[in-house]
Amino acid sequence: MPFQPPRHPATINTVEIDGMARTLFRPMGADGVYARTAAYETVIEKLAQLISSYRDPEAEILRFPPVMSRHQLEKSGYLKSFPNLLGCVCALHGSEAEINGAVARHDAGGDWTTSLTPADLVLSPAACYPVYPIAAERGPVPEAGYVFDIAADVFRHEPSKEIDRFQSFRMREYVCIGSPDQVASFRNRWMERATTIADLLEVPYQMEQASDPFFGRMGQMKAVAQLQAALKFELLIPVRSNEKQTACMSFNYHKEHFGTVWDMKLASGELAHSGCVAFGMDRLAVALFAVHGLDTAKWPDGVRNALSL
Ligand code: ATP
Ligand code: ZN
Ligand code: MG
Repeated sequence: MPFQPPRHPATINTVEIDGMARTLFRPMGADGVYARTAAYETVIEKLAQLISSYRDPEAEILRFPPVMSRHQLEKSGYLKSFPNLLGCVCALHGSEAEINGAVARHDAGGDWTTSLTPADLVLSPAACYPVYPIAAERGPVPEAGYVFDIAADVFRHEPSKEIDRFQSFRMREYVCIGSPDQVASFRNRWMERATTIADLLEVPYQMEQASDPFFGRMGQMKAVAQLQAALKFELLIPVRSNEKQTACMSFNYHKEHFGTVWDMKLASGELAHSGCVAFGMDRLAVALFAVHGLDTAKWPDGVRNALSL
């Protein structure tokens, strides 16, 4: 029986969204890519501390750079599901003469990018992909399973002017690898903790079953199957409107997908299962400013206490 939290009364008091972006961010010349102000970053840091305070004591902490191995992401099956979102690192790989040729073309008003070829790296589209090969390397998953606390700056090619959709954003995750029961209890426990965190932050929210934005017409079928199997839940907060709420956390069960990809087994010889809970740090911060206003000094005492502001 999936966890059903009580519904929070939908009392939203959003400040004007454009003015909000102007106050919290500085433009960097591309939609969904912003410089962040001190007040905003303070909230991000305090949120991270609040999330850390709920960490399982056995969790192993890893922090990832914003890039990861292209081969590992390809092997994970990402291109089958979200090829449209992926950003790939490209570079000028040729000889000195070839590289100078590209630069000269640019100097002459031409296009230097036609000389680019892909590097061995992609921009990580989610924080957790690199953790599975790291765990698999170690041999059979220990009896107690693994819990990881991970984070990365991630990229998704979905340029948007909306305040809740970035191309570059911070993702914090807890990941569990183990038996189906271990992963199920991990996910249930985190769905409960997440609602506790949302209550402390005094934001209206709903926990709902969800599907991933799979690419293309075939993707719609995958989304239906994902819904039927209850593989994904999202904690939604009304940031821009009550009708189209914003997913600020997600709770995902991958079944044995990464076990199969990385040949990762339990001591019993069965394939390892995995699940993750992802916190969209930038969406959570934007949601707090949208609900409580732009001046953190005027936020409710309970919220200020929870965040040690
Ligand atoms: P959405 O429902 O908005 O399409 P998603 O379902 O693709 O997002 P996940 O893949 O579950 O999102 O990513 C984990 C979390 O990362 C989301 O719950 C959300 O908080 C955050 N996130 C995802 N995409 C973005 C984005 N473009 N900008 C900011 N945060 C994002
Ligand atoms: Zn994940
Ligand atoms: Mg979603």
